[in-house]
Amino acid sequence: MDTQVGIVGAGPAGLLLAHLLGREGIDCVVLEARSREYVEHRVRAGVLEQGTVDVLTETGVADRLHREGMVHRGIQLRFGGEGHRIALSDLAGGRAITVYGQQEVVKDLIAARLDAGGPLEFEAGATEIDPDGGVIRYGDGSDELRCTIVAGCDGFHGVARAAVPADALTVYEREYPFAWLGILARAAPSSEELIYTHHERGFALHSMRSPEVTRNYLQVAPGEDIEAWPDERIWEELQTRMALADGSFALNEGEVFEKGIAPMRSFVAEPMRHGRLVLAGDAAHIVPATGAKGLNLAVADVRVLARALAACFAHGDESGLGTYSERCLRRVWRVQHFSWWMTAMMHRLTGDPFEARLQQSQLDYVVRSRAAATTLAENYVGLELEDV
Ligand SMILES: Cc1cc2nc3c(=O)[nH]c(=O)nc-3n(C[C@H](O)[C@H](O)[C@H](O)COP(=O)(O)OP(=O)(O)OC[C@H]3O[C@@H](n4cnc5c(N)ncnc54)[C@H](O)[C@@H]3O)c2cc1C
Repeated sequence: MDTQVGIVGAGPAGLLLAHLLGREGIDCVVLEARSREYVEHRVRAGVLEQGTVDVLTETGVADRLHREGMVHRGIQLRFGGEGHRIALSDLAGGRAITVYGQQEVVKDLIAARLDAGGPLEFEAGATEIDPDGGVIRYGDGSDELRCTIVAGCDGFHGVARAAVPADALTVYEREYPFAWLGILARAAPSSEELIYTHHERGFALHSMRSPEVTRNYLQVAPGEDIEAWPDERIWEELQTRMALADGSFALNEGEVFEKGIAPMRSFVAEPMRHGRLVLAGDAAHIVPATGAKGLNLAVADVRVLARALAACFAHGDESGLGTYSERCLRRVWRVQHFSWWMTAMMHRLTGDPFEARLQQSQLDYVVRSRAAATTLAENYVGLELEDV
């Protein structure tokens, strides 16, 4: 074998796996289709669960995260023109979230990998994977990497999941009848905490990346053309949806320097292992972004996988690999449910008045009942790995 673990994809899942395996002295090679520049600037998630921060801290890649990340102990739910704080930390045993861009996590992990001298090949996309033989073909197709284990960390559109025979995989999927238009703007945050807004015109989210940069989202139609949304229209719509009834709130506006539309989808492919191939992160599952879970779920998979591989290579103990899929899927489905629940509660759905009244009742209950708010809080900050 050329390497013990061949890792396909240098997103959060693949890079963190390489980092954790490197610390265990396990040999691995990371193959990434895109350039370093591209992956370090790809704007995606930005909310890190407590458990994600803990694993990055314990393994020595969180110095910048602790300097620049913003710890949040609550979020606001806004509906009917009023804001209601959900006190995450009070309700969830002191746990908190940290706002720190996914691309910053990626930069930190790439730096750690290169400092450690570990192989990390950019612009070396896998073209074909043999899950039984443990072979990855990459580049122009003539390069070959032979591995004891192949870790498919190549995201939703990668080649790893497609390498599993269709009759060995069960797929569960739901497309939502809306998408998110997201912007990054040079504007100071307008609130100390994230604001999730339910409005008759659709969902809106006010988030941030730093004291100078805000990240805002709008619910839009799935096939929406970004050209139909000039900056002025985006700001106007955000201001309308996020307004408070007493007129006391206005979003800070600024230069929009990034904008895009992302679909909202729930997806799970089971099992997450076939032969020598294991899947982790978006390669195996996708959640709608409302629960801020995609990146965190990728990290949770990788923590389970790294321990299983360490036991396998150190003592020939394959029991962890044997239960890898089952252990991950328990958390995946908990997170799927939470993300679906948050999505269904916060968005404008079909316009059906009965549905709208149910949503209203659910929102009222979440902000009035400590039990309901606790359910939201403990899922949002992230359940302990051992609890699911
Ligand atoms: C457009 C978009 C916006 C998002 N926004 C949010 C958000 O606002 N909030 C939130 O919580 N979550 C968001 N997510 C989800 C979150 O970013 C993902 O869950 C997270 O990136 C998963 O990490 P990953 O490592 O599993 O996959 P990815 O980050 O997708 O990494 C996969 C890597 O594999 C590489 N790759 C693909 N094919 C190959 C191949 N054949 N060979 C080698 N490499 C390959 C890719 O270039 C990529 O670097 C978003 C996702 C997307 C796609």
